Amino acid sequence: MSDTSTIGWIGLGNMGAPLATRLVKSGYDVTVWNRTASKAQPVADAGASVGGTIRELASRDVVFSMVSTSGDLEQVMLDPDTGLLTGEQVPGVVVDCSTVSVETSQKVREAAEARGTRFFAAPVSGNGKVVAAGKLSVVCSGDQDTFTLVEPMIKSLGRSVTYVGEGESARLVKIYHNLLLGIYTQALAEILVLGEKSGVSREATMDFINNSVMGSLFSNYKTPALVNLDFHPTFTPVLLRKDFDLGLTEARKREVPMPITNLTRDIIESTIGHGYAKDDFATMLLIAAANAGVELASENADVSDGLDPE
Ligand code: NAP
Repeated sequence: MSDTSTIGWIGLGNMGAPLATRLVKSGYDVTVWNRTASKAQPVADAGASVGGTIRELASRDVVFSMVSTSGDLEQVMLDPDTGLLTGEQVPGVVVDCSTVSVETSQKVREAAEARGTRFFAAPVSGNGKVVAAGKLSVVCSGDQDTFTLVEPMIKSLGRSVTYVGEGESARLVKIYHNLLLGIYTQALAEILVLGEKSGVSREATMDFINNSVMGSLFSNYKTPALVNLDFHPTFTPVLLRKDFDLGLTEARKREVPMPITNLTRDIIESTIGHGYAKDDFATMLLIAAANAGVELASENADVSDGLDPE
């Protein structure tokens, strides 16, 4: 498929909007649709056309989707009245970037293939700012020929694309990656609270970690949240809990004990229970602090997230 391929995009949330914008900026002809129509405006301002229904995207060569949960993916693809794959016309290829279960991915793949549409799984790692900075990573799976067709588009979403094989393997890699995300965040929360109670600022602790072998792109970009308590949502604890539930379901199927993962799942649940459902999942820090009887305040420090735009 050439660079003149037309693209449709379903879902313009924290991730979908910057991702669709990257395709527009890479020169693709993109038509977007979002359930809450107002969220399409920034992507339209960048040069995308806006469709009034999901099915208006069916004439596009390739349609990407980026919605919240397995049930939401099934709805946008398979709803008998409004779904992309249940209308008269269907696109040639669907690429789904959402983090969903293997079972849903398989169900949508089968429905797509029954209509003659190729289905490709391409979940991602990185938040909206990471996307804008060109540092997103994509893990993908599906038919090798389909990968060859869509690779240039997927490459324009970020800095790395890892093809892991046929079928749904990318779903597993992405879900397992997010278990690490939650566990790492909980570990950071615990040591920052321990530091706080020991009289060390969070700024100092994070500066050392970010410059040490334990630092990462992630620890850097979470630093403003952890030091200055900026919990504007990039990824919510509700979506993280979904990923832990998906991961623990896979662990159960395979009889793999995951004690730390199970405990972290409950801590994420506490974060939601304490009323942070709509905030960033870095609010796990506040739960660690509350458990230690510590009240945190912003350090109002001049810390960077390491995500300078390209
Ligand atoms: P988000 O900000 O909550 O956006 C979700 C998007 O899905 C919105 O456009 C929403 O439409 C749409 N949607 C949800 N249910 C729908 C339905 N039933 N029908 C139609 N549209 C529906 O979530 P996000 O952070 O962008 O995450 C999207 C996916 O990417 C999730 O699977 C998440 O796990 C994964 N992910 C997120 C991050 C991150 O850092 N945020 C990173 C990697 C992967 P409305 O605007 O109308 O609500």
